[in-house]
Amino acid sequence: MTKTIIRDQLKRPLRDLRISVIDRCNFRCTYCMPADIFGPDFAFLPRSELLTYEEIDRLARIFVDLGVEKIRLTGGEPLMRKDLPVLVGMLSKIEGLNDIGLTTNAVLLPKYAKSLKQAGLKRVNISLDSLKDELFGEINGRGVGIKPVLKGITSAKEAGLGVKINMVVKKGLNDEEIVPMAKFCKEEGLQLRFIEYMDVGSTNGWKMDDVVTKQEIFNLLSEHFLLDPVDPDYFGEVAKRYRYKDKNVDVGFITSVSESFCSSCTRSRLSANGQIFTCLFNGNGHDLKEFMRAGASDEEIRQRVISIWDGRKDRYSDERTAETAANRKKIEMSYIGG
Ligand code: SAM
Ligand code: SF4
Ligand code: SF4
Repeated sequence: MTKTIIRDQLKRPLRDLRISVIDRCNFRCTYCMPADIFGPDFAFLPRSELLTYEEIDRLARIFVDLGVEKIRLTGGEPLMRKDLPVLVGMLSKIEGLNDIGLTTNAVLLPKYAKSLKQAGLKRVNISLDSLKDELFGEINGRGVGIKPVLKGITSAKEAGLGVKINMVVKKGLNDEEIVPMAKFCKEEGLQLRFIEYMDVGSTNGWKMDDVVTKQEIFNLLSEHFLLDPVDPDYFGEVAKRYRYKDKNVDVGFITSVSESFCSSCTRSRLSANGQIFTCLFNGNGHDLKEFMRAGASDEEIRQRVISIWDGRKDRYSDERTAETAANRKKIEMSYIGG
């Protein structure tokens, strides 16, 4: 299959598509969906606003034809969308798509891991910010301890899925968990990725002082472990990786704040209601759902995507200041899924 390679204003190709399948979540992580804002009366998207699986599949095919090689399903909590393995099965039939992954809090994985794998899912990134029940319950805003997540990890491994662990680190909240998490993941043979706390959306009250940088985390790890740097596997690999000298396990860092990586950002994001965002920190998306529902043909949608990518100049993290973090209108993380 010959793909059309399109490049944006900064010459970056389109390679990745993150698809949010739902804006709801069974957690209320303080840094993502604070419970006081995402409360019982919060207006989540009505079902009719969510893209159907047929619509997602149709758009995914167009994106793959324009260069996308990897798709990651996300949310909200993607496993709260009914019959997610059905969507995975549809996407896995797309010729030219090399990889389908899923980012999840893992609570529902014991129920779905096997069928997701059978449907063609390759990998899961599981979010876990602490190994202490009480602290984890506080962070996830629902008082859920770590047991359900550990069960989710086990079920993913047993199903034969690749597993990585994501840990968002926020100063004064869970920085004491950095070393215990590293030890746990090393022992379990799981790649851990430390994510710098980001100013996504406008509900989490982000401050630069809350960020624990990659360098700070690395210095701390170096007091306990010997680590060698690992070369990136491909252009645009987001995590900066290291490998333990005494075990073939990697640990990575997502350095969106301290060492931005916009120059190699090949990611586009499709929100649950069918808007395309060309940066995690955009305020507005480009609506493909209404266009599609008004009867646009594949070719018309394709031309629209080409023109959106052609106009892309985003490099928010390269330019972040306290002022942009506080004042720019940005979409919420639970809406486009990280
Ligand atoms: N619910 C799923 C989960 O938590 O894995 C998928 C969606 S969640 C929005 C995707 C990832 O974004 C998670 O790993 C989460 O920890 C991360 N995330 C959310 N808010 C963040 C923030 N303010 N800074 C950095 N990472 C964040
Ligand atoms: Fe839900 Fe994931 Fe956001 Fe936590 S980070 S509130 S699990 S969407
Ligand atoms: Fe990509 Fe925007 Fe993040 Fe830069 S800030 S890496 S352009 S998503």
